[in-house]
Amino acid sequence: MKFSFILLAGGNSSRFKSKLPKPYNKIGGKTLIEISTNKIRQFQEFKKIIIVYHKKHINFLKKINLKNIIFLQGGKTRQQSTYNALNYLEKQNGINKVLIHDAARPNFSSNLIKKILHESKKNDIIIPVLKIYDSLKKKYDKHKFLNLKRDDFFVTQTPQCFNFKKIFNLHSKNKDNYNDDDLSLINSKDKIKFINGEKRNFKITDKYDFLLLKDIYKSNLKIGIGFDVHKLVAGRKLFLGGIKIPSPIGTLGHSDGDPILHAIIDAVLGACQMKDIGELFSDKSKKYKNISSALLIKEVIGKIRLKNYEINNIDINVITETPRLKKFKNKIVNNISTLCGISSDKVNIKAKTTEKLGIIGQEKAIAAEVIVSVIKYE
Ligand code: ZN
Repeated sequence: MKFSFILLAGGNSSRFKSKLPKPYNKIGGKTLIEISTNKIRQFQEFKKIIIVYHKKHINFLKKINLKNIIFLQGGKTRQQSTYNALNYLEKQNGINKVLIHDAARPNFSSNLIKKILHESKKNDIIIPVLKIYDSLKKKYDKHKFLNLKRDDFFVTQTPQCFNFKKIFNLHSKNKDNYNDDDLSLINSKDKIKFINGEKRNFKITDKYDFLLLKDIYKSNLKIGIGFDVHKLVAGRKLFLGGIKIPSPIGTLGHSDGDPILHAIIDAVLGACQMKDIGELFSDKSKKYKNISSALLIKEVIGKIRLKNYEINNIDINVITETPRLKKFKNKIVNNISTLCGISSDKVNIKAKTTEKLGIIGQEKAIAAEVIVSVIKYE
């Protein structure tokens, strides 16, 4: 079965009251658009991912680095935007099912997608719904209210899954009738499978919702610790945080021996419960002989992103007598922020000495300790 995913980000975000349109707001360095698409990418069933954007937002969209995505300009209404995407898919081969999703709901779980994919084997239309627990009233006169039976009502969420041919035909037939909801296009004869939606998959409509989502993510914060030490010897280069530091002595190591990047790697792996640097990059392997640790950390960032982790902040202690790091600190911070894909205000570096004590005090070694926090977007 071939699935396609349509992410609708074509609204003008007028209710959000911000210069930055809602889908382009970031949490933990990722836009709402990226949070949704990254989750979907984990499922091999999706052969095409389409983002429908608002033409006024093109410059925001260009700033996001998204690969293997089809970008289509949206229409004036949600229905027109959906139709543009369906129309594109109609010209492609063999798409059987399509999931249509609003970019304003980035917090669906991977489990919800699994459930939808499973149900799609037997059903043409799958809609996640939530019961209503608040009491419902209808105002029918200025001061008169009617109590409504809440069991008669439910709210719908996205992603919603459709048999492609069915939803394409419905949209083709109704393309001139304004409609904001795919469900109301559906004929009563069509069988719909309603599945339990998720409270966490709420729609972001205002800034308060955004803050709530941030809080939810913060509750997924995890901490990791890393430590590394290298001998300082003559005739080796000195790399700290991926920056080459002019020095008569450098670090001995199988790789380039960068203690800061190695300690960051271990802290990141620790926070994500993904073992340690030695298990990932063996110091017995020729592949890693003299390798730049910048390449290693990039690989690690790629691995943690596949598991939906993103670095939240990094705090570094470099313990060394020589060289003095003051004038390199900014360069190191900027380089680490680039390597880790986070902004530089999330990286902090402190230089310490051991007051001439021990091997570090005698300039025979350099050490780094790091604490990293990561957030899981799932
Ligand atoms: Zn090391």
